[in-house]
Amino acid sequence: RGKRAFIAGIADDNGYGWAIAKALAAAGAEILVGTWVPALNIFETSLRRGKFDESRKLPNGSLMEITKVYPLDAVFDSPEDVPEDIKTNKRYAGSSNWTVKEVAELVKNDFGTIDILVHSLANGPEVSKPLLETSRKGYLAAISASSYSFVSLLQHFLPIMNPGGATLSLTYIASERTIPGYGGGMSSAKAALESDTRVLAFEAGRKGNIRVNTISAGPLGSRAAKAIGFIEKMIDYSYANAPIKKELSADEVGNAAAFLVSPLASAVTGSVVYVDNGLHTMGLAI
Ligand code: NAD
Repeated sequence: RGKRAFIAGIADDNGYGWAIAKALAAAGAEILVGTWVPALNIFETSLRRGKFDESRKLPNGSLMEITKVYPLDAVFDSPEDVPEDIKTNKRYAGSSNWTVKEVAELVKNDFGTIDILVHSLANGPEVSKPLLETSRKGYLAAISASSYSFVSLLQHFLPIMNPGGATLSLTYIASERTIPGYGGGMSSAKAALESDTRVLAFEAGRKGNIRVNTISAGPLGSRAAKAIGFIEKMIDYSYANAPIKKELSADEVGNAAAFLVSPLASAVTGSVVYVDNGLHTMGLAI
């Protein structure tokens, strides 16, 4: 039987999540997607109207099939956590069962088990503010959406993951080197995500024979990255300074992800794997 993957954090065809879904689909996996509730409508409409058909093309000419799209908001673990203003917000009211716990239950009811869990989401409401000007609320929101969301997803999906399975998240080098402009506690959130990758690799490894890795990806002009505001500069900087002189494509991250969640990487867990044209190795930009 082919592997079944749940990928959290796809709302268009530009980001890393989409590219990872394609690489996994090309390798024969069945694709389930978790889409942020406020983005669900437009994503499903675009899918249905064929807006993504060109980018759904796989190397063998067939189109990637997404078996099911689940509304998800990974900052809420269960219905009790959802505040009234969100519950009654009209972007949320049309969907139901989108907390992490409920989505895991739905996937269990629909499919029984999964083999692969991918976390490709982040959010930092104050990302454009320097850390020194970030509020407590903004900092905690960044950690909640970008780091704890992975802990929560693994917590709730581990019981339905087949032994030998693998999980993956996406991180950024701002966790370990200062990247001015990546603010709002997002650098802190990525540092937490990387540390949690090591601890969760141990815990999920022992508990369910599940691997946990994270890809430290180079810059990509995704929707989320454009919201930060300096992504074009980062892409140019990488092009000018990385050992491999080319623009990074999302598919390169997708391919590395497919390797990491496959049996080819059966002894790789707890790792931060750089997929960035080697930019992280440079100490002096020339
Ligand atoms: P993206 O916009 O394609 O993906 C981010 C997704 O997160 C969006 O679909 C958004 O709807 C979703 N999201 C936000 N808050 C959510 C929530 N509470 N619940 C559920 N979903 C939520 O952008 P991307 O750049 O491909 O981001 C994917 C991952 O890659 C992120 O972890 C990001 O930090 C990481 N990353 C990106 C870059 C880059 O340059 N783009 C570099 C390194 C790492």
